[in-house]
Amino acid sequence: MGNFDGKVIIISGAAGGIGSATARKLAEQGAKLALVDLNLDAVQKVISELGLDESRAIALQANVAQEEDVKAYVDATVEKFGKIDGFFNNAGTEGITANVEDYPTETFELVFNVNVKGAFLGLKYVVPVMKKQGYGSIVNTSSGAGLMGSPGFVGYNSSKHAVMGMTKVVALETAPFGVRVNAVAPGVINTRMMRQIEKNTVPQDSEGARKAFGAAVPMGRYGEAEEVANVAVFLLSDDASYVSQSIYTVDGGQLGQ
Ligand code: NAD
Repeated sequence: MGNFDGKVIIISGAAGGIGSATARKLAEQGAKLALVDLNLDAVQKVISELGLDESRAIALQANVAQEEDVKAYVDATVEKFGKIDGFFNNAGTEGITANVEDYPTETFELVFNVNVKGAFLGLKYVVPVMKKQGYGSIVNTSSGAGLMGSPGFVGYNSSKHAVMGMTKVVALETAPFGVRVNAVAPGVINTRMMRQIEKNTVPQDSEGARKAFGAAVPMGRYGEAEEVANVAVFLLSDDASYVSQSIYTVDGGQLGQ
């Protein structure tokens, strides 16, 4: 028996580092999973690695920045499993590293489309289902970058600040209906995204960039995807029944410096 027996959880960005680690932990605790990603092959691979059959998991291809895709993944989940207990609103993209005067407008738009519009659309279509049920827990993936400035990251940082704002607004709108909304704010986490950011930041020495990013953390290291997943799973669970509108940093103490 697990904490999530019979519970239905949607994860967006489920093929990525943090999404797939969270899928694993939820699967181990009995959840039924709707795993959403741009990359269908990768999300199908996650399901087969977890050994879940079709009664326990569905793979859904969606671009979270496209309204019809988001509506379709929410509808498909309700059609298949009948309800949505939890939503990990987690898909995201990093953009590039450049100061504001050199930051391409199309990159800014792409980052905002995925990180802000994508998160907004997820909320827009999941919230009515949860309000009608009278329960549900939503975890938005923001970032430490949503709480501070990082030179070179005008697109990413401002997009993650917007996710903080959405979390606060929607938590207040949904609290009277038994729906909780929180955010995780990971620091530097060992996934594809940080590998790309290291390359973008110091193209000639990405290994050096990795060491410098790790050294800037009070704990002196990157976090692992599983360490973010542990916090997301807690917030999705009934153990967090009185937790809403909270921001959980998972960053080895970085924000507190
Ligand atoms: P990742 O690159 O491994 O995973 C991101 C996933 O999102 C990928 O599977 C990708 O295919 C998917 N995705 C991207 N654009 C999409 C779109 N338009 N529609 C659907 N899916 C899309 O990176 P990750 O580290 O697992 O990132 C997960 C979340 O955590 C992101 O929101 C990211 O911004 C956030 N985050 C990561 C870090 C870190 O250091 N890795 C730190 C803070 C916040």
